[in-house]
Amino acid sequence: MDLSFTPQDNAFREEVVDFIKNNLTDDLKQKMAENRNSYLPKEDHVRWQKALNDKGWLVPDWPTEYGGPGWTTTQKYIFDTEMANHNAPGVMPFGVRMCAPVIMKFGTEEQKKRFLPRMLSNEDWWCQGYSEPGSGSDLASLKMKAEDKGDHFLCNGSKIWTTLAQYADWIFCLVRTSNEGKKQEGISFLLIDMKSPGITVKPIQTLDLPAEGAQEINEVFFEDVVVPKENLVGEINKGWTCAKYLLEFERGNAYAGRLKRGAQKIRTIASAEIANGEPVINDPSFRAKLAKLEVAIQALEMTELRILSKLASGQNMGPESSLMKCRGTDLYQEVVELALEAVGTYGIPFIPLAHGQNDGVGPDYANGAAPDTLMPAKYRFMAAQMKSSAILWQS
Ligand SMILES: Cc1cc2nc3c(=O)[nH]c(=O)nc-3n(C[C@H](O)[C@H](O)[C@H](O)COP(=O)(O)OP(=O)(O)OC[C@H]3O[C@@H](n4cnc5c(N)ncnc54)[C@H](O)[C@@H]3O)c2cc1C
Repeated sequence: MDLSFTPQDNAFREEVVDFIKNNLTDDLKQKMAENRNSYLPKEDHVRWQKALNDKGWLVPDWPTEYGGPGWTTTQKYIFDTEMANHNAPGVMPFGVRMCAPVIMKFGTEEQKKRFLPRMLSNEDWWCQGYSEPGSGSDLASLKMKAEDKGDHFLCNGSKIWTTLAQYADWIFCLVRTSNEGKKQEGISFLLIDMKSPGITVKPIQTLDLPAEGAQEINEVFFEDVVVPKENLVGEINKGWTCAKYLLEFERGNAYAGRLKRGAQKIRTIASAEIANGEPVINDPSFRAKLAKLEVAIQALEMTELRILSKLASGQNMGPESSLMKCRGTDLYQEVVELALEAVGTYGIPFIPLAHGQNDGVGPDYANGAAPDTLMPAKYRFMAAQMKSSAILWQS
């Protein structure tokens, strides 16, 4: 694996940094610092994503025929690393990163023409309707029903944990279209307009977002929702194939850049915080923990680079994408836990007293340290489920 950068790569890095400097405005930076789960208000996300799209950089993974920039895997790596270094907003993944590859591979020409350009232009926001109460790790047991009514499906049931459904214009759903045979064989992949009569979105309050209005995940209820047949992606009862294909893209995120940034923040905090008359960073046991974490992050980065090099040679990401998600989320949890240990008692105030500041209770870097440990815990929980079941890859 060749890890050196060419002069062209270095020039590209400068272009990325320039883009960030020109577009990551002070108010966006401030909001990113305040938003502990990196979900900005929708209008800010749209602003950022429009800037990326104007530059032709919104969809690094899309083929050029659909609007992708045609980057090398090294360029993608540089882009992800610089975005993480500057704490730039991530791209909302549900449309462009998750649903789009499925439409490109399994969708009709009409579906490609209808949905892909509106994802690029940020006109349509998407959410993911996979999980149901009782169908999480064992996703194939899902029950939401889509009855064939001739020219349309009639949908009844519910989805749960649906991230940012409150913003979404569309939801891609796994629905049950048959109860015959193996449970995986009766599932279909359906695109549903969130404005359809019969859909209700109900927020779920989470530990890390206690403030009113701070909403990330939801329940979505479907009562006699009419969905035109043309919104079926791929063949009827073959949605499990689409579902698994989509998950390769959901899980294949880059983690190392943001983890390295987190470890650097711990160093800064631990150098400023004093315990027993010494900076925390001088405590041998703390140093050992941080060093162990940094080594693990470097190892993850190498795995990421190995995956990139596999992709560069034309192979698919495959099950390694699950490995990345498990390890990436575990390490993220360790990063925020060590950050909380470094800030000590200043981590106790749970809700920020003022937007972006700790308002005299402690240094600004302590803001959100406690709820930060609760947010990735949710993702780690999911990753643990993937580890224990590995159901999707086996079926
Ligand atoms: C923050 C957050 C956002 C999410 N966003 C979305 C979203 O946008 N759209 C969406 O569709 N879903 C979303 N999810 C749901 C997520 O994909 C599910 O949580 C996940 O699939 C696990 O399902 P579950 O929560 O029902 O847990 P369960 O499947 O009930 O698992 C509970 C426990 O049982 C264990 N377990 C389960 N099966 C086995 C087995 N066979 N062998 C051994 N142990 C087992 C698991 O390891 C786990 O510890 C989100 C979840 C979270 C936490």
